[in-house]
Amino acid sequence: MDHISRRKFNKTLSKGIVGSTFLSSLPYACALGADQNNQKKLGVALVGLGSYSTYQLAPALMDCEYCYLSAIVTGTPEKEKIWQDKYGITRENVYNYDNFDKIASNNSVDIIYVVLPNSMHADFSIRAARAGKHVICEKPMAMNVEECDAIIDACKKANVKLGVGYRLHSEPYTKEIKRIVAAKEFGKINYIGAEAAYRSTSNPEQWRLNIELSGGGALMNMGVYAIQSVIYGSGENPISVTAQEFSTRPDYFKETDETITAQFEFESGVFANIMTSHNVSANKLFGSCDNGWFELDPASTYIPLAGRTSKGPLNFKQERQQKLQMDDFAKHVLMGAPNVAPGEMGKRDMIIVEAIYKSIAAGNKKIPLNLGQMGL
Ligand code: NAD
Repeated sequence: MDHISRRKFNKTLSKGIVGSTFLSSLPYACALGADQNNQKKLGVALVGLGSYSTYQLAPALMDCEYCYLSAIVTGTPEKEKIWQDKYGITRENVYNYDNFDKIASNNSVDIIYVVLPNSMHADFSIRAARAGKHVICEKPMAMNVEECDAIIDACKKANVKLGVGYRLHSEPYTKEIKRIVAAKEFGKINYIGAEAAYRSTSNPEQWRLNIELSGGGALMNMGVYAIQSVIYGSGENPISVTAQEFSTRPDYFKETDETITAQFEFESGVFANIMTSHNVSANKLFGSCDNGWFELDPASTYIPLAGRTSKGPLNFKQERQQKLQMDDFAKHVLMGAPNVAPGEMGKRDMIIVEAIYKSIAAGNKKIPLNLGQMGL
């Protein structure tokens, strides 16, 4: 900003010719001081046009203030025309999995959002980074910690930003729980309980039940929400985990875990219990403190969340979580705003997932965790 007056800077912005690279080099406060309405919106390419992209992300992108849907990447040719017509996407902004790397030369794509089965997250996130694009990778971040490291390294090498699709960090009820916990509003926290589960009965051939494509069952899918809940519900990373697995429908859940419970210890003395399942429906976060309690129920669905504390009900404006999430990431890229769900957070959760599977494999043994401040 030394070499450019604010007036000239605002004028340049209003012409829409300031690229995101230039904006991202500016201090946050400085970019916020600019006329936000005239800022360039970042172009997002969705990779994988399955149910989450179709029913949540693409509609949310229509409402975003800092980004928009500029391109699609799909392995299903029949979807191309439908999406082009619906979202006004030009022919040159349609890619498939084979010609995906050509996206590097497409200036209307700033962010690549990977929304594929878990086994494809690392490959496409790394290719996206190598194409010089910022990356949002869906949860769970990858199949294992090694893949998380490879994604993080690729983004660092390419000097691009990396976020995980943890939409709840942009969601007002969850943010209020984080505020309550940080402020110790109800005194010392003693116990956190979290449940993230739904009953799966549809197509037994779906990728979520295929270990090669999913990397695991309920724990990899819903379990990461329960892990997240106990961490933002306590404000700390756990120092140990002990886990159990339950199976009641082995004919349906042939390869992947059906129900898992796990208990966590924390340095401050907090104790936590989670349950995740593909066989029962449950969605809740509860925190018990010396001087009161807090609760979200539901805690991680994308239908509106609801919550209350021992002081009374919580009441926040409901907006599409994915709009808030993608705008937060775009603001991170554009203005250096905080990255609310960075790659290190996704990696930390994968370390915990691996420890839970290890505990179960070892006959419910307590597994120590040495996470420090990772992802907090
Ligand atoms: P989906 O099954 O509806 O869509 C998967 C997409 O991947 C489809 O377009 C499919 O054609 C494509 N695909 C490519 N190769 C495939 C293969 N070998 N097998 C199956 N599909 C293949 O899944 P989804 O619900 O859209 O989930 C996609 C990702 O998004 C997953 O990682 C999931 O965990 C994540 N997700 C996140 C949230 C959230 O709230 N953050 C919600 C739903 C899904």
